[in-house]
Amino acid sequence: MFEQIAEFFKNIQLVHVFELVVFTLVFFFMLNVLRKNNAKLIIVLFVVFTAVVSALCYLDIIDHAIAIILFALFALGVVILFATEIKREVWNSSIKGSDVKHWDSVSIRENAKECTNEIIKAVQSMSKNNVGAIIILANSNMPSGILDSGVAVNSDISSALIESIFFPKTPLHDGAMIINGTKIQAAGCFLPLSQEISLPKELGTRHRAGIGITETINVTAIIVSEETGVISVATGGKLKRYADTEMLKNTLKSFYWQDMLGN
Ligand code: ATP
Ligand code: MG
Repeated sequence: MFEQIAEFFKNIQLVHVFELVVFTLVFFFMLNVLRKNNAKLIIVLFVVFTAVVSALCYLDIIDHAIAIILFALFALGVVILFATEIKREVWNSSIKGSDVKHWDSVSIRENAKECTNEIIKAVQSMSKNNVGAIIILANSNMPSGILDSGVAVNSDISSALIESIFFPKTPLHDGAMIINGTKIQAAGCFLPLSQEISLPKELGTRHRAGIGITETINVTAIIVSEETGVISVATGGKLKRYADTEMLKNTLKSFYWQDMLGN
């Protein structure tokens, strides 16, 4: 028995260890992406497929190289199906490492209600006056490249300031405003556009920018249409249109109390 174990370890080569580590990392990364996106059926298929291929390989029914190719093909299929989700996962984990909290929880607890009211007031007033706007509710998690594409503001949130920034023909009205906690962090920021082909034709670049950023990063976008005055909310790459006061209140409540304070 001990001899067999010793023999087994003697036969292990560095390339096997490397293969095992790569396989395990890819397997758990895939599983994590699928779990977060609630893809239960694909999780089952993925686990069963991996088990069957491993068993066939172990029993020498199929070649080792074929097993790797089959696993790689399945993994490629998952990557194509979940390209957007994987992008979000990669962006978020690269941000987390260098994340510094720029907001403090006491200020959020004290000011969340007022900030919520001011944002809703501004959004509804812009909607009434057909002023286009895009506001991103972020959690110190905006990539610096996006913040640098605009202008740093670092001011308290007020409806007057939000409306002035988006007022047509002012220097910062184009592009997105980034809210970080109880502060307006930046304005005039350029966001990545969603490449989703199934979006209604009447949604132009403002809406695509709002959807695009939520596809890759865990933030929420509030969009006011200049053409129709319709208010929309985008999260996780999905757009909900015709947001009323209730929806805006819930969006901001979940931003302040869940995303930021973790309640
Ligand atoms: P609306 O309903 O307000 O017309 P829309 O979805 O039809 O919105 P456009 O009419 O193309 O979009 O809106 C153009 C405006 O959207 C630009 O002036 C700019 O302010 C904003 N915008 C466009 N692209 C981006 C981007 N990549 N990042 C941030 N803002 C953008
Ligand atoms: Mg338009």
